[in-house]
Amino acid sequence: MHTLHGNFTTDTQFFGGNNVFDLIEEYGSPLYIYNEEILRTRCKEIKNLVTYENFVPHYSVKANTNIHLLKIVREEGLHADVMSPGEIYLALQSGFKPEELFFIPNNVTAEDMRYAINHGVLMSLDSLSQLELYGEMNPGSKVALRFNPGIGAGHHEKVVTAGKKTKFGINQEDIDIVKSLLKKYDLTLVGINQHIGSLFMDYDPYIQSTASILHIAEHFEDLEFIDLGGGFGIPYHKQDGEARLDIKTLGHKLDVVLHNFAESYGKKLQFQIEPGRYIPCECGLILGTVTSLKENAGVHYLGTDVGFNVLQRPIMYDSHHDMELYTTHVACTSPLTPFTVVGNICESGDILAKDRLLPTPHVGDLIGVLDAGAYGFSMSSSYNQRPRTAEVLIEETGNVKLIRKRETLEDLLRPMLV
Ligand SMILES: *Cc1c(COP(=O)(O)O)cnc(C)c1O
Repeated sequence: MHTLHGNFTTDTQFFGGNNVFDLIEEYGSPLYIYNEEILRTRCKEIKNLVTYENFVPHYSVKANTNIHLLKIVREEGLHADVMSPGEIYLALQSGFKPEELFFIPNNVTAEDMRYAINHGVLMSLDSLSQLELYGEMNPGSKVALRFNPGIGAGHHEKVVTAGKKTKFGINQEDIDIVKSLLKKYDLTLVGINQHIGSLFMDYDPYIQSTASILHIAEHFEDLEFIDLGGGFGIPYHKQDGEARLDIKTLGHKLDVVLHNFAESYGKKLQFQIEPGRYIPCECGLILGTVTSLKENAGVHYLGTDVGFNVLQRPIMYDSHHDMELYTTHVACTSPLTPFTVVGNICESGDILAKDRLLPTPHVGDLIGVLDAGAYGFSMSSSYNQRPRTAEVLIEETGNVKLIRKRETLEDLLRPMLV
């Protein structure tokens, strides 16, 4: 086997000595593959972000909810953020204790709230009406609130989750109403949180946004924690030499802010953050098959079995994913050609990448779509009735562990009660 294009998996020994063609033969194509060592490295970086002692990072599990990965994240000492009863259920099944979970939903039903209350999971409400609904259901309890700090950030309009144009959070102008609702239902506000958006590569907006939430915190006396949100970015353009987020400097700057605030608030509050993508993104890759090559009106199409049922991000956010190519043929250095890399779904929008410069592969070669560990499998579907893929974990020993079976044709039919 030769790598025809790219060197990330070679440099990181991503496949742990396993041959990619053997993996596809054993588990089928396409296949989600995760590397345990990379996952643990990312967890440790986040866990050790600051020296402030009372610091508890919460992994936002929506990025990837495979319970084998959740177990590793928990072993590394992280807690978890959850967005739905399904995520609460999976997090509990993977070993998280209710007090290690923080439920941060948006526009949930009373039934969803009841699920969290019954399972002893602290909840953050993100509107006055949801606070009122919660108060009626669970008076006299502890609660948290999500505020909109007034500034947002992110890689795409669809992922900016604070500022003026978003459905998220309670506005600061409503603090007086918040206080009267808390009083009305005898609720204790123990935590406040924010999340300004996803995928920042520059730490300044994040550090700046902490000033706003800390300012909001000064209005409340019983706080036990402040949650600063997630959004930590990863370099999707590795092959062009994109730099990593400078997590060391971010940590130093954050440390100063946390220590100063604790001093002025007069209490060593717990600080939380909510990284989602940063934790599993780079440990995951999709291995697929080159199924066809064709030219149509001057455009070179590289057809694969990685449709948007397998990876949504390119069509949802115009996202870029670096790609590698693997071949069993003698690797000759063919000239690079701009390829439009497409999947096998019957929609013309089913495009993984446009005008990507790649050497010309053979049909039957394999393609590796990098940085697919976050919002990859968790957003995948069985559209066109393609059963969802298997997932495997390359353990630190190099051993390959099947952590999710490929769905079958029968799985498509089962919920229809025939
Ligand atoms: C999605 C989400 C996160 C995680 O976002 P990332 O960009 O993946 O770090 C954190 N907090 C909340 C409230 C979210 O909705």
